Amino acid sequence: MLLTLIINFCLLTTMMYLLSLTYKSAEDINATAVHVPRLLLLAVMAIALMLYPAEVAPGVIIDMRAVPIAYLALRKGVWAGLLALIPLLLYRFHLGGVGVWSAVFSAVGVVLLGGLLHRSVDLSAPRLDWRSLWWRLLLVFMPNGILIPVLRGDPAALLTVYLPLLVMTYAGFLVSLGIQRNRYRLLSLIATYERQAHRDVLSALPNRRQFDRDLAQMDEADLLCLIDIDHFKKVNDTFGHAAGDEVLTQLGKLLRSRLRGHDQAYRYGGEEFAVIFRAPGTAAPELLAERLRQAVEQTAFPALGGQPLTVSIGVTRRGSGSLEDCFLVADRALYAAKTAGRNRVQVGSPELLAADESI
Ligand code: GH3
Ligand code: MG
Ligand code: MG
Repeated sequence: MLLTLIINFCLLTTMMYLLSLTYKSAEDINATAVHVPRLLLLAVMAIALMLYPAEVAPGVIIDMRAVPIAYLALRKGVWAGLLALIPLLLYRFHLGGVGVWSAVFSAVGVVLLGGLLHRSVDLSAPRLDWRSLWWRLLLVFMPNGILIPVLRGDPAALLTVYLPLLVMTYAGFLVSLGIQRNRYRLLSLIATYERQAHRDVLSALPNRRQFDRDLAQMDEADLLCLIDIDHFKKVNDTFGHAAGDEVLTQLGKLLRSRLRGHDQAYRYGGEEFAVIFRAPGTAAPELLAERLRQAVEQTAFPALGGQPLTVSIGVTRRGSGSLEDCFLVADRALYAAKTAGRNRVQVGSPELLAADESI
């Protein structure tokens, strides 16, 4: 019997590892909806474990089928667990024997207790309070095989069959949970690092890396604005670097608050920001950029003690030319806005670029 349970254990952990690979992203883990393919996989897993049972009395078999079922009920609740029980119990009825009703009692008991615990425990949480959890999880597996001593008419089976089954099943569950939680942790870390790698801490806007990505995906009608704070060096020199940082943070917030849902602001350099306007329709580029310029000019920056802050903006349509040209046109326009006296918007044009190159 022990050897059978060990084989079951190996099979279980291998299948649990495969299940963990079906989680592809951090969103997968926290999704509240029941993932049907995963539910089916767990049901198939439980049936697969029943292919290698130990017969502890004529028509009475034990294996680790309770683990995937308990895992499902704990993660997704009673109904998901009961749904997975349908194929499992159909197969058990097909096998027949006197142990059938004991098997139904075990499976339903495990699902009900698992579902009950599901309400208060989130097994995907980054930290689990094991001190209060270990015995509650153990409790979930208590009904599993509890009727076997009755079926065998042998109270000693409580020690020789029920207890080893409980220990092995519980150990199998803990290892399975460990495998899943390792996957959850890995995916959450990847999501965190991915987020951090594409976001600027100070302004909370997407950074240069994200800007380059989005720039490459602009449509011809989209607009690119390059925004540079005027005389920012003076801000640092007069009010200190910390005040300069505060201004950058506030400007990040301001830009975010002034954009529609699909437009996006970025901080792509020290005091250099960008905005991509997605499908702005017939709106004139200079009008959209002008609104941003005015918004900055009219905003009070507490870090500057009431002194105004201004920005210069170069704006251009993405057009059908190369990406490099589009960026260069906007950059040249920004440069032109600076040389024309700052605190203004300049619309870029290929002619501006051509004129620049001929110098
Ligand atoms: P212009 O109007 O020509 O753009 O003048 P400017 O002073 O804004 O431009 P310049 O390029 O001479 O200086 C940019 C300044 O931005 C210098 C640098 O110290 C400051 N800066 C860049 N990144 C940060 C940052 O993260 N925090 C702070 N506080 N300052 C920064
Ligand atoms: Mg500047
Ligand atoms: Mg600059």
